[in-house]
Amino acid sequence: MRSADVVVIGGSAAGIPAAVTARRHYPDKSILLIRREEKVLIPCGIPYIFGTVGSPEKNLIPDGVLEKNSIDLFVDEAKGLDPAKRVVTTAGGEEVGYDKLVLATGSEPLVPPIPGADLENVFVVKKEVPYLNQMLEVMKGVKDLVIIGGGFIGVEFADECKKGRDINVTVVEMLHHCLALAYDDDLCSQAEAILSEHGIDLMVDTKVEAIEGDGKVTGVRLADGKVLKADAVILGIGCKANTALAEAGGLEIGPTKGIKVDQHMRTSNEHIFACGDCAEKVSAFTGKPSPMKLASIASTEARIAGANLFSVHRENKGIIGVFATAFWNTTFGTAGLTQKEAEKNGFEVAIGSAEGPNRHPGGMPGMSPLKVKLVFNKNDGVLLGGQVAGADSGGELLNAISTFIQRKMTAEDIATFQLGTHPALTNSPIGYQLVNAAEIASMQMR
Ligand SMILES: Cc1cc2nc3c(=O)[nH]c(=O)nc-3n(C[C@H](O)[C@H](O)[C@H](O)COP(=O)(O)OP(=O)(O)OC[C@H]3O[C@@H](n4cnc5c(N)ncnc54)[C@H](O)[C@@H]3O)c2cc1C
Repeated sequence: MRSADVVVIGGSAAGIPAAVTARRHYPDKSILLIRREEKVLIPCGIPYIFGTVGSPEKNLIPDGVLEKNSIDLFVDEAKGLDPAKRVVTTAGGEEVGYDKLVLATGSEPLVPPIPGADLENVFVVKKEVPYLNQMLEVMKGVKDLVIIGGGFIGVEFADECKKGRDINVTVVEMLHHCLALAYDDDLCSQAEAILSEHGIDLMVDTKVEAIEGDGKVTGVRLADGKVLKADAVILGIGCKANTALAEAGGLEIGPTKGIKVDQHMRTSNEHIFACGDCAEKVSAFTGKPSPMKLASIASTEARIAGANLFSVHRENKGIIGVFATAFWNTTFGTAGLTQKEAEKNGFEVAIGSAEGPNRHPGGMPGMSPLKVKLVFNKNDGVLLGGQVAGADSGGELLNAISTFIQRKMTAEDIATFQLGTHPALTNSPIGYQLVNAAEIASMQMR
């Protein structure tokens, strides 16, 4: 029987930082990471396999990080969990004892309950190298691709699958806009205009009724009876927490079907922690359960879990949700609440938007426009959310916005914060979008 002081199940965005953090905080402990796949994909890089990056093998997390941190690796699938004996059993018949266990078992793609979802050449987005290689092979012969789901995964696939292929791509989205859960309508419209401009057929407010075909997919039938021709379909409608092992061990499951955890990432068993897509989450704004799943959240939770294994050092204050996407050289980023989400949750809001070049003067080589929209709570002036669109520097600006949200900064704080600028790197101190957006919102709260 194998054993280690710390056993981590899962080798991705949560499992690796959980193990590395445990190593840093508890240098004397033995750490074993169990994962079921030989090679681990960079999950967020998966759409880029189909265009920019070119193959799953070029989108892998190297195992060097484990070796460097003296973390042992065991490739097998954990099937059973006995919390009383503190033992995990694997598909290969091994028993692995632990003192502390971290579940970082992630998520699985959702398959919609519609007829035809199991036809050949209908794909979900699995984080598995052999599956993605098979998908890539099929894509070589595809003429008509239908992507069901216009969230950031669907849109990134649309962009990447167009690259180097003579292919018709249609994105079908049941909401009123693509990316509607991440951005306000003005940014969604901007994103949709770019997608349409580059030849993506967008069908919003559109429900899929069935996927058609005889063995192999031939089309997608919509609620109005229209059939879209398709020789491949990608389902990008979200994912569900992988809780099988936790359930096998009798752990409590939360309201959004993730493994229930407290603010220290402890499950209902004091020796077992959970983090990442498999763990239940709570919104930092409302305290309500949240189904949001992101790699950035996974690694934050992992750093909390890894540090707290043998004594509590860190606390999870709830998720704010920060992420960006980029297509056709335009960045779209969001942190915290959008205006519509804030209003839906009962906040009275003040909004500030500012747009300008990301370098100064505007004639500087490489200049791109960048828009910033900030959402404040009108009652106390505190920043609730921010969105960026345009230049790629928006991706890092978003992380500054996220910091402001987490530090509960007000419009006044942001309008007067000390920033650094340079002609080749940013807008001028006069035109700096973040400050101007805060100033505009601040005027509404005087
Ligand atoms: C196409 C795509 C693009 C994305 N882009 C972004 C992005 O740009 N930014 C962002 O923040 N998020 C993005 N995400 C979300 C992000 O990928 C997930 O939030 C992240 O992968 C969660 O990490 P995780 O470690 O919790 O779970 P997972 O990545 O799902 O990993 C789970 C791990 O556990 C292992 N495992 C599971 N069960 C067992 C078992 N029983 N035994 C052994 N091993 C097991 C798996 O093999 C895997 O190693 C994207 C997701 C997808 C699908």
